[in-house]
Amino acid sequence: MKVRDLLNHIDTFAPFALSEEWDNPGLMIGSYEADVSRVAVCLDAVSEAVVSAHENNCNVLLCHHPLIFRGVKKIDVDSEFGRTLSAAIRYGVNIIAAHTNWDKAEGGVNDTLASLLGLMKTEPLDEFGLSGIMREKMKPDEFFAHVKTSWHLTHIDIYTQDMPEYISRVSLCGGSGSSFWHSALNHKADVYITADMKYHELIDASRDGLTIANINHGEMERVSLPELARKVSESGIETVNLNINALTEPIRI
Ligand SMILES: [Zn+2]
Repeated sequence: MKVRDLLNHIDTFAPFALSEEWDNPGLMIGSYEADVSRVAVCLDAVSEAVVSAHENNCNVLLCHHPLIFRGVKKIDVDSEFGRTLSAAIRYGVNIIAAHTNWDKAEGGVNDTLASLLGLMKTEPLDEFGLSGIMREKMKPDEFFAHVKTSWHLTHIDIYTQDMPEYISRVSLCGGSGSSFWHSALNHKADVYITADMKYHELIDASRDGLTIANINHGEMERVSLPELARKVSESGIETVNLNINALTEPIRI
């Protein structure tokens, strides 16, 4: 199987046509004609991930976040970006990405998050994300403990002006979903779970009556990687989940 065939396989379950206009999934660096040995899966294409892929005998690194988004003006090999590219060239690791096409895919980021929570009757939230109903309504402390264990989170920051007595309807968006909070409100969500909600958005959303669970972007999306690896391995290619955290836990003082 060549890198081209692997991308075609990914296209069957996470069609690249689903990706956003601003997005840049697919081949980041490498050759469409390279023969694939094994595929390493991780969230972010950092230099350490390229080295780890190579050490795991993988010549393809499949990431969720594209390494290259917009015009590259220079490649400084002493920067993290340059180190990643030069490691990819040195070790012959082809870097590919499945980003918003994997977010939106059936069984992708948002679907995986929803199924781990046990959400039923899911419907699209906006361009991204979904809304659904819990099998049984839960008290907030019970619900958030369930979210934390189901998605292996280190913490959840909850912002609310009026904590609902029970949580039944849940809206969620994997990654930076702050721009969809109005949709969560329109869906009458008891809680909106996403990442990267900013100060002013938190003020507006919570004061308009939305309860928000703001969680770590990486922790939220990492949950979908075992499923991404599983779907890739259906092509017959072996996969390895690297479990590399590009961003270390903050030191809180
Ligand atoms: Zn993301």
